[in-house]
Order: sequence, then structure tokens, then C-alpha cells
Amino acid sequence: MVLEKELEYLGIHRSLDPKGVLPQAAYKIDNSLPIKDSEILFEVNSLNIDSASFYQLKNISNNNKQLIKQEILKIVKERGKMHNPITNSGGVFLGKIKQIGKDYKNQNLKLNSKVISLTSLTYTPLYLEDITDINIETNTVYVKGYAILFYNSPFTVIDDINIEEEVLMMVLDVAGAPAYSAKYSQIGDTVIILGGGKSGVLSAYQAYLRVKPSGKVFIITKEKYEVEILTELNIADKVIQADATKPIETLKEYLKYNNELADLVINCTNVSNTETTSILLTKDQGRVIFFSMATSFTQAALQAEGLAKNIQLIIGNGYFPNHDKIAIDCIVKNNKIYNFFKNKINYEKNK
Ligand code: NAP
Repeated sequence: MVLEKELEYLGIHRSLDPKGVLPQAAYKIDNSLPIKDSEILFEVNSLNIDSASFYQLKNISNNNKQLIKQEILKIVKERGKMHNPITNSGGVFLGKIKQIGKDYKNQNLKLNSKVISLTSLTYTPLYLEDITDINIETNTVYVKGYAILFYNSPFTVIDDINIEEEVLMMVLDVAGAPAYSAKYSQIGDTVIILGGGKSGVLSAYQAYLRVKPSGKVFIITKEKYEVEILTELNIADKVIQADATKPIETLKEYLKYNNELADLVINCTNVSNTETTSILLTKDQGRVIFFSMATSFTQAALQAEGLAKNIQLIIGNGYFPNHDKIAIDCIVKNNKIYNFFKNKINYEKNK
């Protein structure tokens, strides 16, 4: 039956608890071998854990690598996937193609090609034998294990890309953000990026390219040291230090540098309770893109209502056509942005 085949292409057969739902919605999925003919198998070498999830894991583990490791192994053992039950978010994996099912859509792929998944780990059957190391600064978890992707699950082959794997993984984990920024930033716009981390930097770069010469880009981030690093990148008219969980203080701080609210706010923070600030900073008829996984739909919708703001609230989809190319383009074309990512790896190694 055609529908049954289509459902298999989406991975529905792997959902165990409950059965009959798509893998992302299932609490537990089947990560066992062998793969089905429509699936593809990868050896997994590392995971890039989504920032909201990693922040939560670091918090409950007091930054202790051993405890973070135990927590990740526990989640994957229990759920068959790296789906953080508190933040409900995942991340991406880096690995090598090990087996291509005979009915898989692309039979031209080569065994042992290196790939990065563009499908959330919350959707990906994953088995971990061990975790060998963790880079606290880049959210990278070095593992031994395997993962399975379905006929329809996106991933990208990185054999011909001459950029460090860890950098690529960080960039591709947040690839949706710069793609959304590129789609919605227009010449003359005022754009505010909340959170000056990975997705914040890539989004600011894409906005800066598009709003000039008449528009302006602002980055609002929490720590003073980040203001200095981000200012050096030259991708914003002003980098402002403010705590986005404090809406009134943040608004006041922003108004010191610009007296016009934003046409577009892109929320790239990794903490809860920043919805109000995003909405407060947006002008009537403007837009907010909530890329942050710590976003509460209820808070966002009710705050906009309470503030009587006629604005569009957009959920930042992790997928966008060509988002991998748009994201990689940012680091290929801008050496300072590439170094921003590279320095994150070095920071941990030099500690
Ligand atoms: P990141 O690199 O960790 O950056 C987060 C940034 O937010 C950091 O610069 C952080 O500053 C800043 N921040 C934290 N609390 C703040 C506050 N109160 N006020 C102002 N800034 C604050 O994270 P990322 O990888 O870019 O990811 C950003 C968000 O996107 C996360 O929530 C992640 O889960 C989400 N995400 C969404 C998708 C999707 O499909 N929509 C996909 C991947 C990731 P400090 O470093 O000083 O704390």
C-alpha cells in the first residue's frame, strides 16, 4: 500500500512507545539492527548536542563531564535516541555511511563517506556503546555508536568540504537560523538578534548583508566578554550587553542606542523567559523568529496579546531548503566568523 510505504519512509515503524506515531513524538524508538531496506546506517563519531539541551545537562551536572556523560548515556539507553526529556530538543551527529538499504533513495552514495545529519537527534534511532570525551565549549560529545536515518531524513555529505568537522557540526546544528534570517531581513530593516552565540552570529551576518546601507543590526547578549568578541566581527551596528530574561531593563538599554523598535527580532538565546523581551523589542507589524528551543508558545502568544502587538510570531524551523549551504557560506565567506567558531574548539583544548 502506498501510504504504508510513505509512513515507513518517515520512520513510523521504529516508534515503540507509543506505537503508530512519528519517531519525534515517540518516547522510545527502536534503535536495533538490522536496518530496513529503505533505511541507511551510519557509524557515529560525535554528537553536537543542541544548546538548550546541553545547557540543561551542564546545569544539572554542575559542569562535570562524567555526570553529563552518564546522563546522555541514560537518555539514549532509555529512549533509543538523544531526546532530552526536559528541553525536548536534540542536536546532530557526525559519522560515516556504513550500509545503504537496497531500497534507499540514493544508491550512488559511497560507503565510508563522512556525513553530518540535518535531522534532529530527537528523530534519529541512536545506539551508544560509549562516550569517549566531551567538549564543554562546543557541545560536542565524542562517541562510539551507530545511528539510522530514514528514506526521507536529510543529511549532508562533507567529504569535499575542507573545514574542520567540529566547526561544520556547530554550524550545521543551527543552519536553520541564518536561512530564516536571510529570508526575512530586508533592506532598511532594523534587526535585533537576541543571544550572541552560534546561531546569533550566523543570523546577524545574514541580516547585516541584507539590511544595509540604510538598515541596522543589533546583537543583544548577556556577558561583557561576548560584547568585545562580537564587536570585533563587524556584523552588527552595535553589540549591547543586557539580560534578555529582564524585558524592561533590556528595552531601556537598547533604547540608549536606537530609538526605533525592530522590524525583525531573532531569538537565538538558549534560556527560558526571553519571549517578552523579544515581543517588547518588536514594532507593530514586525516579526519575531523564535529559533530558541527554550521558547514557550504560551508565553509568546499571551505576551503579544497582553501588549496588544500586531506582530507575526514565527517558529524557527530547523529545516529550510539549502540551509546547509547558506550556513556553510557564512564561514567560507567570512574569515572572522570562521575563527569565532574555530576559537570555541581551541578554547576547550587550551584549558
Ligand atoms: P549558543 O551558541 O549557546 O548561544 C546562546 C547565546 O545566548 C549565548 O551567547 C548566551 O550567552 C546567550 N544568552 C543566554 N542567556 C541570555 C540572556 N539572558 N540574555 C541574553 N543572551 C543570553 O546557542 P546556539 O547553538 O546558537 O542555539 C541557540 C538556540 O537555538 C538554543 O535555544 C538552541 O536550542 C536553539 N536551536 C534551535 C534549532 C531549531 O531548529 N529551531 C536548532 C538548533 C538549535 P552566554 O554564552 O553568556 O550564556
